[in-house]
Amino acid sequence: MNYSTTEIKQLQSLLKKLSFNPGPIDGVLGSQTQTALEQFQIANNLTPSKELDSQTYEALQKYLLGYQEYEIKQDDTLSKIAKNFNTTINSILTANPNISLNNIKEGEIITIPYNFDIVDTNIDYTYDILEKDLTALKKRYPFIEVSTSGKSVLDKNLYSVKLGNGPNKVFYNGSHHAIEWITTPLLMKFIENFSKAYSKNKTIKGYNPKDIWDQSTIYIMPMVNPDGVDLVLNGLQEDNPYYDDLIKWNNGSTDFSKNWSANIRGVDLNHNYDASWELSKEAESLYGIDGPGPTRYSGEYPESEPESKAVVEFTRSLDPRLVLAYHSQGEVIYWNYMNMAPPEAKDIGKSFSEVSGYLLDEPTGITSYSGYKDWFIKEYKRPGYTVEVGKGVNPLPISQFDKIYNDNEELLLLASVI
Ligand SMILES: [Zn+2]
Repeated sequence: MNYSTTEIKQLQSLLKKLSFNPGPIDGVLGSQTQTALEQFQIANNLTPSKELDSQTYEALQKYLLGYQEYEIKQDDTLSKIAKNFNTTINSILTANPNISLNNIKEGEIITIPYNFDIVDTNIDYTYDILEKDLTALKKRYPFIEVSTSGKSVLDKNLYSVKLGNGPNKVFYNGSHHAIEWITTPLLMKFIENFSKAYSKNKTIKGYNPKDIWDQSTIYIMPMVNPDGVDLVLNGLQEDNPYYDDLIKWNNGSTDFSKNWSANIRGVDLNHNYDASWELSKEAESLYGIDGPGPTRYSGEYPESEPESKAVVEFTRSLDPRLVLAYHSQGEVIYWNYMNMAPPEAKDIGKSFSEVSGYLLDEPTGITSYSGYKDWFIKEYKRPGYTVEVGKGVNPLPISQFDKIYNDNEELLLLASVI
């Protein structure tokens, strides 16, 4: 069987979590990964072929969702089960809200979460991985609400996650721009860490998730542009209905991995919102843009694309107090639009700047209109921010993830209560 590089990276990362060292997470089935596969095969009573054969692949798939189902036996206690599976009573109770410590019934099927995290932060974060992680997180933390807020051009789901039940609604989104996909695992890791802390009644950076849960509701759309992200990470697939057009729009190149920001129709989603959209359109010629392409094409009219339209409709349905749109790169936070941001927006921006170490700035030139946060500020006169994470050349290497996460974790918490 043939496995894609992104798929192999995912399995390498899983082997690592299961304590079978595959060497570097490089998407190549090299000798170290083969040895790790052999150890995994022996531990799971499979033929030690050192290869990613179908048996081994299936066995690994079972671990990907991070849990297994278990039928309660006659003499079981939760502490016995937790011990057998090397997990904790708390994580079992969290995953199974219908049972309690002294009330388990023989024959009942329960979910046993494994003792490792779900969201990988060392791999290419494709749409398939997003879907898998949302399923896995929901299973482990049933209090998370996952819904679909629209579809992409290629009919992928635009997922959104709801954390909390409080009246103060905020909305965070990531990966408007395809090559800025590192913003998706950033938001996904935040969802995981927030949920984990909530279930254990622990604080994060001094914030109590239980308090946030009652005070606020955090809505997160981690991947606004799934078609674009997959084009960047998985390459152009032969069955893509825009196959020929995409090569033309990409100046004849079949390599989309370094430059593609747009959606699958070559529209830059963050230039497709109804906020001085005409100025964005006029500016295209200055940048040599005359139609669909990797970046900065604003589309035929505002919200012409299903992704930007879905984000607008979702925002309207929420009526949020504040929004964050995650991009890369620059370590900078943009806060204003045509001087329409309310006076408090700059002060809040200063606080974000303090907790992240990022610069607070106002956008200029072509980046100063038709973006999501521009539209939000225009429409609601409330605080809206573009946060540009990391430094360097897009796409940022995943090796920057830990720093990016550390820089932004408190910002993500603070934004829900400020
Ligand atoms: Zn961007």
